[in-house]
Amino acid sequence: MVQISFEFFPPQTDRGRTNLLRTAHRLGAFRPAFYSVTYGAGGSTRERTFAAVARLREAGLNVAPHLSWGSDDEAHVLGLLASYRKLGVDRLVALRGDVPSGIGARGQVRHAEDLVRLIRRRVSEPLKLEVAAYPEVHPEAPSAAADIDYLKRKIDAGANGCITQYFYNADGYFYFRDSCIAAGIDVPIVPGVMPITHAANLMRFSDKAGAEIPRWIRKRLEELDGDGDAVSAFGAEVVTALCRRLLRDGAPGIHFYTLNKAGPSTAIAAELGLG
Ligand code: FAD
Repeated sequence: MVQISFEFFPPQTDRGRTNLLRTAHRLGAFRPAFYSVTYGAGGSTRERTFAAVARLREAGLNVAPHLSWGSDDEAHVLGLLASYRKLGVDRLVALRGDVPSGIGARGQVRHAEDLVRLIRRRVSEPLKLEVAAYPEVHPEAPSAAADIDYLKRKIDAGANGCITQYFYNADGYFYFRDSCIAAGIDVPIVPGVMPITHAANLMRFSDKAGAEIPRWIRKRLEELDGDGDAVSAFGAEVVTALCRRLLRDGAPGIHFYTLNKAGPSTAIAAELGLG
C-alpha cells in the first residue's frame, strides 16, 4: 500500500487559512495517510503552525505537525507536544530545523536525534515519529557516510520513518535507500517530492536546501521562465515520471511538498492513478 502525504506551511492571512482547508479537502481525494504542517525553527511560526494544525484537526483530518527543536527550550517543546496530544495528534515530524541566524548563537541548538529521544522519554502514548533524510546529503554533514550514521541514530532513538528532502534524481534516492539498508536502517524512507511550478523560486530555494536541480531541468526552466503554463506543464511531466519510477522500483510512498497549492500535486497524483 503506497503511503501518500501532503505538506503545508502555516498560512499568514485569513484568505490563506480558508484556502488551506479547501486545498486539504481537494487533496483528500488521494486518501493521504496524513497532512503535515511546517514549523519555523526558533519558534517563528509557533502560533500559526498550531492554529493550522487545530483547524485541520477540527475538519477531521490526520495531521502530523512538524516540530523543530531549533533553540526552543525543553519546556516549550513539551508544552506544544501536550497541546498537540489534546488535539488527538498521533504523528509528528521531528526536526532540528534551520534556526534563523543570530538565534543559534544564543540558544542551544539541538539535533533532531535529541528531540526524538526527549519525546520517547516523556510521552508514553503511541506516537509515530518521522524524521528528515537527505539522499543528496545534508549541506552541513561532514560526509555522506556520517549523514547516514546520524540518520541511523535518529531511528535508534525511536523514529518510525523518514521523509526525504526533495530531489529530481531517482538513482540518487535508490543509492541512498540501499546505503541506509546496508547501515541497518529498517524503517520506510518516503521520498519527498516538490512539484515544479515556479522556476526562479525553485532554484533559489534548492541551493539553500541542498537539493540539486539537474542541468537539463535547469536549462529547460531557464528557457521557459516567464511562461507559467509551460513551466507547469514541463514540471508535471518531469515530476510525474520521477514519481512513477520511484514507485515502480519500490519507494514506499510519496510525500508532496504542496506549497499549499492543490493543483500541481493533484495533476501528478491523478496521472499516477493514486486517487
Ligand atoms: P539533524 O538530523 O539534526 O541534522 C542536521 C545536521 O547535523 C546534518 O548535517 C547531520 O548530518 C548532522 N547531525 C545529525 N545528528 C547529529 C549529531 N547527533 N551530532 C552531530 N551532527 C549531527 N525546517 C524547518 O525549519 N521547519 C520545518 O518544518 C521543516 N520541515 C522539513 C521537513 C522535511 C521532510 C525535511 C527533509 C526538511 C525539513 N526542514 C524543516 C529542513 C530541516 O530543518 C533542515 O534541513 C535542517 O538543517 C536539518 O534538520 P534535521 O532535522 O535534518 O537535523
